[in-house]
Amino acid sequence: MSVHVPVMTAEVLAALQPERGGLYVDCTVGLGGHALALLAAGATRVIGIDRDGDALVRAAEVLADWSDRVELVHSDYRDAPRVLADRGIETIDGAVADLGVSSLQLDGVGRGFSFQRDEALDMRMDTSQGPTAADLISRVSEQDLANVIYTYGEERRSRAVARAIVAARHAAPIRTTAQLAGIVRRVVGRSGRIDPATRTFQAIRVWVNGELTGLDVFLRAVCARLRAGARFAVVTFHSLEDRPVKHTFRALAKEDASLRLWTKKSIVPGEDELRSNPRARSARLRAIERAG
Ligand code: SAH
Repeated sequence: MSVHVPVMTAEVLAALQPERGGLYVDCTVGLGGHALALLAAGATRVIGIDRDGDALVRAAEVLADWSDRVELVHSDYRDAPRVLADRGIETIDGAVADLGVSSLQLDGVGRGFSFQRDEALDMRMDTSQGPTAADLISRVSEQDLANVIYTYGEERRSRAVARAIVAARHAAPIRTTAQLAGIVRRVVGRSGRIDPATRTFQAIRVWVNGELTGLDVFLRAVCARLRAGARFAVVTFHSLEDRPVKHTFRALAKEDASLRLWTKKSIVPGEDELRSNPRARSARLRAIERAG
């Protein structure tokens, strides 16, 4: 079973100060790592949201000792305003969002996120709804696919990759991770240590899950609910995610006199964490606070 080590936990705790008690929202509760740290440090109540039902099962196990203080909600974090409204919650004492994929998704059997293993090309974080990667790839136009691979994967050879995928799908439907990885590797030669399929897999994953859509609206919605003295910490894993967080936080700090950047520049993990947790490698944390 894959172990998910939460990223930048010390920094998240330093930002959120759960020892003050209060209600915290973990917008991406995942396997419960950050939520557990918040509770152990003193948070009175945690609402943990995730769109991945499998993750919530694991989070419930991890948080079993704290079940009277936690509520786990199967939802998209972009629906956080409704999740809070349904519970009559108007303001919160802090929030965290740890964007991207969990190790359960990346390494989990049958999820189809990884080219390390041959399985059905699914890639949905929420397996209860929406088209799979295989479905989308079977019907997208070459032009749109090239744009996805360029924009979300920053793959310079996006057009050639899209052309090869469309040509291959005429011959036989692309249903597995190994098929897709094979097509990409034949087009994009290996340079350096990273697998040439990495960027295309990232792009398709971001596309399937609409990962960058509505991020700004979500960030604004959470900030609108921060109580005086409350902070919102966001951990990102690539520049495509970090950029909108940086821009939205900066814009909010200009528009709203009571909001200010708690991190002027993004914070990165310390040496020890980088050495011990490979998932931390590209992590950055930004936090915003409402003046207390
Ligand atoms: N902080 C967690 C790990 C989070 S990994 C821990 O310590 O265990 C990122 C999680 O975000 C994944 O479980 C993924 O399903 C979830 N996620 C990504 N996009 C989401 C969205 N739009 N809505 C809700 N959850 C999302």
